[in-house]
Amino acid sequence: MEIIKATSTKIKDVDFENLSFGAIFTDHLFECDFINGEWQTPTIKPYAPFLVDPSLKVFHYGQAIFEGMKGYKDENNDIWLFRPEENFKRFNKSAERMAMPEVPEEVYMNGLVELLRIDRDWLQKGKNHSMYIRPFMIGTGTGVIANPSNNYKFMIIMSPVKSYYAGEVKVIIAEHFSRAANGGIGYAKAAGNYAGQFYPTNLANKEGFQQIIWTDDATHTKLEEAGTMNVFFRINNTLITAPVSERILDGVTRKSLLDLAKRNGMDVEIRSVLVDELVEAAKNGSLQEIFGAGTAAVISPISGFSYKDTYYELPKNENPWSLQLKEELTNIQHKVSEDHFGWTFKV
Ligand SMILES: *Cc1c(COP(=O)(O)O)cnc(C)c1O
Repeated sequence: MEIIKATSTKIKDVDFENLSFGAIFTDHLFECDFINGEWQTPTIKPYAPFLVDPSLKVFHYGQAIFEGMKGYKDENNDIWLFRPEENFKRFNKSAERMAMPEVPEEVYMNGLVELLRIDRDWLQKGKNHSMYIRPFMIGTGTGVIANPSNNYKFMIIMSPVKSYYAGEVKVIIAEHFSRAANGGIGYAKAAGNYAGQFYPTNLANKEGFQQIIWTDDATHTKLEEAGTMNVFFRINNTLITAPVSERILDGVTRKSLLDLAKRNGMDVEIRSVLVDELVEAAKNGSLQEIFGAGTAAVISPISGFSYKDTYYELPKNENPWSLQLKEELTNIQHKVSEDHFGWTFKV
């Protein structure tokens, strides 16, 4: 690996107690190009804009994928990743679906480790802080003809973040728009999936809802994901989430929460939840909680949902499962409590 160190640091200008999510980046980035069938020498270099040709495939045909992961610093100043091999495998699953080359495991993992080491001062210790890590790949071949690129650029950039509380999240259940379809690319972290969500989400925002609960594209009767998060429901004392599929992304947070809940002896079901079942449970009082699960916010509790112009407010729980599970998961991630599952990876 080639390492070109930055000659100055931006760290002195950063207020680590007031960070907006994903807005500032560390001094270095990791880069590895794929040119005519071969991965080139991986490089760490100063974070900076770069010049590209306007006809890049990524601009015209959307060959772009990404991952989202976090690094944590414990009380001994050791740095940890959480289940990084899961993100690595998913990255290459996304690559395959978008007709992009697979990134070799050593390129991906060494890139992560070396970048975290070189910018280690950017990661503050303690439970309020983490490093949001964004590996991504774009098609860098040129030419406005709709075929896969010859060349690709794999990069990793990092942004220090504070743990955040999203506030009251009210959601609207999708009756028309879809995030993903059978046979489509919903299971991939493909950039276009997110662009396609922006317009319906803007419409929901205008009606006073922060997020959309996506339903299956064919019938709009099954609840699938909440915004860009997997979604969980607690009905009485059973925690329910849909099985992953072509339309439902295989979230690392989702599967970790399922394991934690089972270990706690919570009753867990992996099955589709119908919109009708949710409305019925809200009406008869058995619906206790709804929450989104994903790396960025970890768990995002939902305070109520709207369906067919009726708003259903959820009860206020004294000790919600969402917060219990969030606490347990973040304690493992930050090495505050023991990792019985072998999920944490020392950098
Ligand atoms: C990334 C993502 C998730 C959450 O995955 P994590 O691995 O838990 O971060 C869920 N749904 C969608 C659509 C996503 O893009």
